[in-house]
Amino acid sequence: MVVVMSRDATEAQIERVAEKVREVGGEAFVSRGTVHTIIGLVGDTATFRALDLDNLPGVDHLIHVGKPYKMVARSLHPQPTIVKIGPAVVGRETFTIIAGPCAVESEEQALETARAAKAAGATILRGGAFKPRSSPYSFQGLGKRGLEILAECREDTGLPVVTEIVDSRDVDLVAEWADALQIGTRNMQNFELLKAVGATAKPVLLKRGLSATVEEWLMAAEYIAQRGNSQIVLCERGIRTYEPSTRNTLDLSGMAVAQLESHLPVIVDPSHATGHKDLVAPMARAAIAGGADGVMIDVHPNPGEALCDGPQALRPEEMLALAKDLEALAGVLGRRMG
Ligand code: PEP
Ligand code: MN
Repeated sequence: MVVVMSRDATEAQIERVAEKVREVGGEAFVSRGTVHTIIGLVGDTATFRALDLDNLPGVDHLIHVGKPYKMVARSLHPQPTIVKIGPAVVGRETFTIIAGPCAVESEEQALETARAAKAAGATILRGGAFKPRSSPYSFQGLGKRGLEILAECREDTGLPVVTEIVDSRDVDLVAEWADALQIGTRNMQNFELLKAVGATAKPVLLKRGLSATVEEWLMAAEYIAQRGNSQIVLCERGIRTYEPSTRNTLDLSGMAVAQLESHLPVIVDPSHATGHKDLVAPMARAAIAGGADGVMIDVHPNPGEALCDGPQALRPEEMLALAKDLEALAGVLGRRMG
C-alpha cells in the first residue's frame, strides 16, 4: 500500500502516518517528490487497512498496489525520472549514448577510446576496472588502477564515468572515483550489493539479470530505491534463451515493458546482447525506434587485440557512423541527443 500525502502535508503529518504504521509492526519508506510526498508501506496490508490512514490529516489518498514493486512503479510516480550522471542526463526526451571499452586495459587504450566516444557524441564514458569474467583465467580488470585511468579519461574529455562494481566491499572505493555505479547482469540479484549502492549518493546503472524476468529486474531496482537512491537507469542487455546465434537474446519487448511499468529510464546494451559487432548497429537503431532512453556501446581502437569482448566492440569509425544514424533517427522521433 502507498500513502499519497496532500501537497501541503506537514512534516509532522508525514511522521504521524509513518509512526502509526510502525506501531503495528510495518515499515514506512518516505519518498519526497516536488509536489507530493509518498509513503510506501511494507507489511501486512490487512493491518494497514484497519488503521484508517485515509482519514489522517495530510493524507490525500491511498493506493493499493497490486505489484510487488512500489518505489519504482510508474503507477505511483507517473512523471519519468531523469537521472543525472555528472553533467549528462538520461531520461525523458533525451537519448543518451554511453560508450567506451568493455575493460580498461591501459592508459593509452582507454584515452584513445574515450576520445573516440566523445567525438561520436557519447555523453557518458563506460569502462570496466573490475571485470566479472566467466573464466577465472580471463583478464579480471586493472582494479583501482583502472579507476585512476578512468578519472584521467574524465579529466581529458569531460565525460562522466560509469563503471561496474562487483563486490560490496568496494562500494566506497568505486563511489569515490566514478560518477555512476554499474551493477552487472551477474549481480542483479546480489541483494547486499544492491542495498550498498542504494545507500550511496551515486546514480546506479542496473543491468537486467541474464535470466531475470522484468518483475525481478524491477524488484532489484526497488532494493536500491528503498534505501533512498532513486537515481537508477535500467539497462536491457539481453537474456539467455535457446537461441545460440547471438550471445544473448535482446529483449526489446522487455525494455518496453520496463518503461511502461516503471518511471525509471531504460537503456539498451546491444553489444552484450548480441556479442557480435555486425549486430550492434541494427539493434541500437531498433532500440531508439522502440523508445529506449539510450544505448551503451562497447568501443575499442583495436578490437582484435581486446582483452575482453573484442568480437562485439565497434572501432571508433564504426561508432561514429552509428552515432550519425542515431542522431538522424532521434530527429525523426522527436528526441534530443543527450
Ligand atoms: C559490461 O557491461 O561490461 C558487462 C560485464 O556486462 P553484463 O553485466 O551485461 O554482462
Ligand atoms: Mn563485456
